[in-house]
Amino acid sequence: LSADANLVEIFSSVQGEGPDVGASTIFVRFGRCDLRCRWCDSPHTWAPASEFRAVLPGGTETSPNPVACERVLDAARALGAERHRFVSLTGGEPLLQPEAVAWLARELREFGPAIHLETHGLHSGALADVLPHVDVVSMDWKLASDVRRETEPKGATPAPFVAAHRAFLERAIEAPRVIVKVVVTPASQDAEIDEAVACVAEVAPDATFVLQPVTPHGPVRERPSAERLLALAARAEARLRDVRLIPQTHPIYGAP
Ligand code: SF4
Repeated sequence: LSADANLVEIFSSVQGEGPDVGASTIFVRFGRCDLRCRWCDSPHTWAPASEFRAVLPGGTETSPNPVACERVLDAARALGAERHRFVSLTGGEPLLQPEAVAWLARELREFGPAIHLETHGLHSGALADVLPHVDVVSMDWKLASDVRRETEPKGATPAPFVAAHRAFLERAIEAPRVIVKVVVTPASQDAEIDEAVACVAEVAPDATFVLQPVTPHGPVRERPSAERLLALAARAEARLRDVRLIPQTHPIYGAP
């Protein structure tokens, strides 16, 4: 039996960030997130969504949440899931609804695409049930200089994320592929990034480590300089095998 889920939308596009950039992808976006990243480009996903939107070839269909996950399979079929390289389960934070993620990952994999889980990388308990059905775990490494939990007041220094990210990564390495992504803003501290690099080198030396210069959004107005980004990449490369410096590409051509 399928789970019900709070979902924002399903649509077909190409991957806009990370090492699989440009690959055809169906995105399934989950509602709700328990973090507050300063640069977040989807604050509409912070609260549970009232409606689920399926952007289909014949037009957009909406239905009230929660939705039965079978509806997602119908939409995936209509979108020609089998011709896509990936299905990305994204958010919001998908691992706040692990049962629905596991069910959808298992069923959508049957269509053919590899299953890519996009997560903030903090809920290691929820990852266990999902892992057997996922091909790529793409986790963020959040920096306390730019991110807080929803329960922490604005302006206060958030508790560090390092211990929770380490615990998550220790479990994520059971997946066939692991990507660790750090969004770098002008406020990011070198020491925080060095800490991420040290942990990935120790726990997941085969992971792909992505430095993603922030796409200015909301209160974040500027990117870090190219000089700084190249220096950070060189420092990471001294300790890791697979380091990439990749900005988001979908905003360049206006894709969702
Ligand atoms: S984890 Fe993702 S959805 Fe949540 S606030 Fe950060 S960028 Fe936005």
